[in-house]
Amino acid sequence: MIEGEIDVVRRDGLDHEAAITTHGAGQITGELSQLSGRPSIARGRAGVRGCVAVSFDAAHLRALVVGSAEVGEVIMRAFILRRVALIQDGGSGSVLVGVTGSPDLVRLQGFLTRNGYPHIALDVSSDGEGRALVERLGVLPAELPLMVSPHGDVLRAPTDAEAGVFLGITLELNPDAVYDVMVVGAGPAGLAAAVYAASEGLSVLVLDQRAIGGQAGASARIENYLGFPTGISGQALAGRAFNQALKFGAEVAIPLEVARFDCDDPETPPNTSLRVELTDGRAVSYWASPIEAKLCEGEVVALVGGGNSAGQAVVFLAPKVKRLHLIVRGKGLQATMSRYLIDRIGGLPNVELHVGTEVIALEGDRTTGLTAAVFHDRSNDATLHCPLGHLFLFIGAEPNASWL
Ligand SMILES: Cc1cc2nc3c(=O)[nH]c(=O)nc-3n(C[C@H](O)[C@H](O)[C@H](O)COP(=O)(O)OP(=O)(O)OC[C@H]3O[C@@H](n4cnc5c(N)ncnc54)[C@H](O)[C@@H]3O)c2cc1C
Repeated sequence: MIEGEIDVVRRDGLDHEAAITTHGAGQITGELSQLSGRPSIARGRAGVRGCVAVSFDAAHLRALVVGSAEVGEVIMRAFILRRVALIQDGGSGSVLVGVTGSPDLVRLQGFLTRNGYPHIALDVSSDGEGRALVERLGVLPAELPLMVSPHGDVLRAPTDAEAGVFLGITLELNPDAVYDVMVVGAGPAGLAAAVYAASEGLSVLVLDQRAIGGQAGASARIENYLGFPTGISGQALAGRAFNQALKFGAEVAIPLEVARFDCDDPETPPNTSLRVELTDGRAVSYWASPIEAKLCEGEVVALVGGGNSAGQAVVFLAPKVKRLHLIVRGKGLQATMSRYLIDRIGGLPNVELHVGTEVIALEGDRTTGLTAAVFHDRSNDATLHCPLGHLFLFIGAEPNASWL
């Protein structure tokens, strides 16, 4: 800004507005959305004395950031910290209204969290504003959860794909554009490829069917990644890599699944389709983020798996739950888990390790949710009936490459 003032405010779709800051001469407005030209999450207005400012579109902003390392560092740092503050402080982004803990609300919370989009969730039965909105719009229980955009538009029971388009998370693709490189998957490997290709001046499109970060995005704390001696959460790592890719001009479109690879006509752009499956239920989870931890706070849970991802999840969950049964099919953890995790698990008093054991049955229904599991000890053929409310599965993943 050259002179005057810009008042920056956070705003949500329910018409709440709160001041964030006032920028003066020499300062920059904006946050991460501006880097890729996505819709703004915060708002800026000229102050009472007006203002004179230089405006940058996304392409020129990226040219500025890449062209000068010093200016680029200041802008990137400010944008990242501002987005973190918008996520942590609430009051901006999307408002979700639904039943706390219901599978669709948990799915949407996970989708927005893993894509770094600010949001809050209101419970329709206990939150007055949430209930009033549902009554005013005449929303049926089957149409929950509602998603309210920062501008007040409302979507009923959206899929992840619909939510991505609605909030501007999903990039609008130009079917005529031809890219130098297309990267399928925005996990660590995909984002690294995008950063290196884009920083060499190639045009890059990254597609992911779910969220940035891939499996690593689900990790509570990664401690063996080069350059992070104190460890880093998977989401923080994914966020950094994502912003680095955007800085160099890579385009990232989520959630889009690549269904087919068409080699016949080199002029044909990649074939993509919008398709997202619901894989998580209320009681069975394939990762352990703060959302799942909140769902099973103070409960008895079981976690199946003996690898490092299972170990990290145990260390993360155990302080939050009443008791955690760790179910391992092998004879112990030594062959499959890093020593530092085995030692930490050994120091957790509420973790019960069941080696040589598998889960053979689950009990519960749609109304009660999960109520119990049956464990089978393979060494003596004994079974153990264990009442519990949540099951975590960390039993491996198959590469999704058959389409290729
Ligand atoms: C909970 C957990 C904790 C972990 N902790 C550690 C750790 O501490 N240290 C460590 O070294 N490793 C850890 N790992 C393993 C590590 O995360 C993986 O090795 C790493 O993520 C692999 O990276 P990748 O980019 O190759 O693939 P992935 O992370 O699997 O990413 C693949 C991406 O491709 C997308 N995709 C797949 N098919 C398609 C398609 N057809 N169209 C569009 N998108 C598609 C997926 O949605 C996904 O986002 C952990 C894994 C988990 C699950």
